[in-house]
Amino acid sequence: MTMRIIGLAIGLLFGAGVTATLAAEPIRIYSLDKADYLMTEKVEKTEAQWRQLLTPLQYKVMREQGTEAAYTSPLHAIKKEGVYRCAGCGLELFHSDQKYDSVTGWPSFYAPVDRANVGFETDRKFFVTRTEVHCIRCESHLGHVFEDGPKPTGLRYCINGVSLVFKEKSADK
Ligand SMILES: [Zn+2]
Repeated sequence: MTMRIIGLAIGLLFGAGVTATLAAEPIRIYSLDKADYLMTEKVEKTEAQWRQLLTPLQYKVMREQGTEAAYTSPLHAIKKEGVYRCAGCGLELFHSDQKYDSVTGWPSFYAPVDRANVGFETDRKFFVTRTEVHCIRCESHLGHVFEDGPKPTGLRYCINGVSLVFKEKSADK
């Protein structure tokens, strides 16, 4: 925790380039490319850097826990085979094999690529307790997980399309 505050302070003092080179917190993620777990580092950016990288809607959803309007994401209807990566850091989050049409208007999956790649937080906004889902590497907000999904998990990862970038299988190689 202290390291993080110091890192942030140094980043603020010396500007944008320095933050990326500081030793960030190591984390274990699953890589589809390598078909194995590997160690990586948290992606940490300043508010200004995020604003530069993301569209205003992406910033609102991913960094301020917003929600895109239902049925607005072009990713909602995609049925092609491929991987859905984090729009913030490129981490592999979901695979087309786990995607299904939940008829809610948001891209829905019954599981992530691996549980190691996502983080969960209890969200008590609007007097309802929900489970928030975010990217484990850059902590960008993705959506929520509900317990009314299909087999085999019974879970519904209700994800904002703007938080994801789809890479079709052939384009991935
Ligand atoms: Zn990310």
